[in-house]
Amino acid sequence: MRIVLLGPPGAGKGTQAQRLVDDLQIPHLSTGEMLRAGQDAGSELGLMAAQYMESGQLVPDELVVGIVDQRLQQQDCQNGYLLDGFPRTVPQADSLSELLQQRSTKLDLVLELNVAEEELIKRLLQRKRPDDTRETITERLQVYQKQTSPLLEYYSTRGLLASIVGQGTPDEVYERLREALQQHSDNT
Ligand code: AMP
Repeated sequence: MRIVLLGPPGAGKGTQAQRLVDDLQIPHLSTGEMLRAGQDAGSELGLMAAQYMESGQLVPDELVVGIVDQRLQQQDCQNGYLLDGFPRTVPQADSLSELLQQRSTKLDLVLELNVAEEELIKRLLQRKRPDDTRETITERLQVYQKQTSPLLEYYSTRGLLASIVGQGTPDEVYERLREALQQHSDNT
């Protein structure tokens, strides 16, 4: 299966993605993780991305699309994958669609984790990532509203979107994700 996991920072994408990939036996493609790994390795790409990430801005589309393109060429992606944190803009979604077409494949499902803003801020302040300061949290939530949330309509009009309530315990949220997957496979 080829799945996109969408949702604002703090919605629990990382936690739920891990469970999904373990269950479905597909690779977990997190652009945030890829960019952080690039930074840790001191690669040129990682260093270019750092300034954007530290301020809560999005890294330029070409850069992110490039790393996804390369990753999709690897052997372990041939039978599906879970994209986490990509696409994050409409141009990225268009580029993803081209990458899929080039490979004669399609997305199966876009899963959205929906969580109220007060809860997101609470969760992000508990996390200990270097880009989780009060200023960058506000910035990243605004960036999500402005640049990423249009993807909900983008995928909804294409009949690919399943929205899941992301409040509650990780187990409760995971159960809802499994139900959405089940419903999808019943309909196909
Ligand atoms: P994440 O781990 O998904 O929360 O991503 C952390 C940071 O990496 C984001 O705040 C962005 O600066 C950058 N990033 C990750 N994925 C993307 C993407 N698809 N497009 C642009 N920037 C991204």
